[in-house]
Amino acid sequence: MAFEGLAERLQDTIKKITGKGKVSEQDVKEMTREVRLALLEADVNFKVVKDLINRIKKRAVGQEVMESLTPGQQVIKVVKEELTELMGGEQSKIAVADRSPTVIMMVGLQGAGKTTTSGKLANLLRKKHNRNPMLVACDVYRPAAITQLQTLGKQLDMPVFSMGTDANPVDIAVKAIEKAKEQHRDYVIIDTAGRLHVDENLMNELIDIKDEVNPDEILLVVDAMTGQDAVNVAKSFDETLDITGVVLTKLDGDTRGGAALSIKAVTGKPIKFAGMGEKLDQLEPFHPDRMASRILGMGDVLTLIEKAQTTVDEKQARELEEKMRTMSFTFDDFLEQMAQVKKMGPLEDLISMIPGMNKVKGLKNVQIDEKQLDHIEAIVYSMTKEERQNPEIMNSSRKKRIAKGSGTTVPQVNRLLKQFNDMKKMMKQMTNMQKGKKGKGFKF
Ligand code: GDP
Repeated sequence: MAFEGLAERLQDTIKKITGKGKVSEQDVKEMTREVRLALLEADVNFKVVKDLINRIKKRAVGQEVMESLTPGQQVIKVVKEELTELMGGEQSKIAVADRSPTVIMMVGLQGAGKTTTSGKLANLLRKKHNRNPMLVACDVYRPAAITQLQTLGKQLDMPVFSMGTDANPVDIAVKAIEKAKEQHRDYVIIDTAGRLHVDENLMNELIDIKDEVNPDEILLVVDAMTGQDAVNVAKSFDETLDITGVVLTKLDGDTRGGAALSIKAVTGKPIKFAGMGEKLDQLEPFHPDRMASRILGMGDVLTLIEKAQTTVDEKQARELEEKMRTMSFTFDDFLEQMAQVKKMGPLEDLISMIPGMNKVKGLKNVQIDEKQLDHIEAIVYSMTKEERQNPEIMNSSRKKRIAKGSGTTVPQVNRLLKQFNDMKKMMKQMTNMQKGKKGKGFKF
C-alpha cells in the first residue's frame, strides 16, 4: 500500500499526542521532530518538509490549539490540514472545454504509464462522466506503442485514431481532432511519445503539438516509485510545457509516497489522478484530504463508498438492506455479497480505507488469503438450494456431504456456519444501532 512506512510512523507519533489534555511546547517540538523524520524517510523533498514543519509548529503552539478543549486532537487536525494543503488542498478536476472536443495531451517519460493511463482515463470519463472519448496514437517512434493503444482501445471498445509511424505527430493530432468532431466525440486523449530521459528533441515535438492543437489539459504522467526523480521530471516538463496537472502512477507499489507529497509544492501543479494498479479501472481522482486521512490512519470512507457505488448494483444493495432488516439474509445473498466485494479490489486495500482498522491488533499487516474466500465459495456452492435458504436444517450428515463436495473438512463447514450466524447477529445489531443513533460518526 502507498505511504505504508510514513503512515505507520505518523500514526505512532500521533497516538502519543491525541489524548493529551494539555500540549506543551516541548510536546509539539517532539512531535514535529518525529513528523519531520517520517517525511524525510518517505523521500519527501527536503525544502518541502522544512516549510511544512514550520507551518505546523507555528499553528500547533498558537491559540487555536492551546485554547482548545482537546488540544491533542487539535494538533492532529492541524497536521491533517497542512498535509492536505501540501498536496493541493481541494481536489483538482479534469478540464471541460467550452468547445467540443475537450483536448487532453498526455506527456511523460517512457515507462511512466502514459499509454495505460490514457486508456484508464478514457474509461473513467466514459464510466463516471458519461463522456464519449477518442484515443489518439501520436508515438510514431515505437510501433509497439501504437499497437498497445489499439489493444487498449479494443478492450475498452473505444476508437483509436492512428496514422501509423510515417506521419508527423502534429498532423496526427490535428486530423484526430477533425475526426473527433465528425464523430461527435467530446474528449480527445492524445498519447504522445516518451523518451527514457528528458530530451530536447522530444520537448520540441511536444511544444509543436501544443502550439498547433492548443490542448485544454496537458497531463504529465509520472511514476510514483521513482520518488524525487518524479518530482524533478515534473519540474522540467512544467518549465517547458506549462503542464496543467500530474497523474501519479504506480502509487499501489510506492510504499514511501514522497512524490505524492512533494509534487504540488515543488511545481505548483496539482496531482489530478492516481494510478492504483495495472487494470483499466484502477485510476482514481486524487483527493488531497482523503489521502491525508489515509496517511494519518483516519481511513478513507468516501473512496470506499464511491468504490462500492461504482461496483455494487444499487437495486441489489437496497434489496440486501431490506433482507438485513428483516433478517432474511441467506447463503445465496452471502455469495452475491462476496462476488461484489471481490469486484471492489484487494481486501487489504479496502481495509486500509476503514477508519481505525489499521490500529486493530492483528489486522495490521494482515495478509488476507484470497484462497480462503474460494474455500468459502466452494462450501456454499456444495449446499443444496434448501440448505442455502435455511441453514438451520444443517445436520451432521449434511455437513459431511458438503465438506466432501467442496474439498474441505467438517470443521471448516462448521466455522463458516458459525461465522454466518455471527454475521447475521452483527447485522441485527448494526441495523438497531442505525435506527437508534443517527448521526453519530467519527470525529475529526
Ligand atoms: P508508457 O511507456 O509511459 O506509455 O508506459 P505504459 O503505459 O506502457 O506502462 C508501463 C508499465 O507500467 C506497464 O507494465 C503498465 O501496466 C504499468 N503501469 C501503469 N500504470 C500503473 C499503475 O498505476 N500501477 C501499476 N502497478 N502498474 C502500472
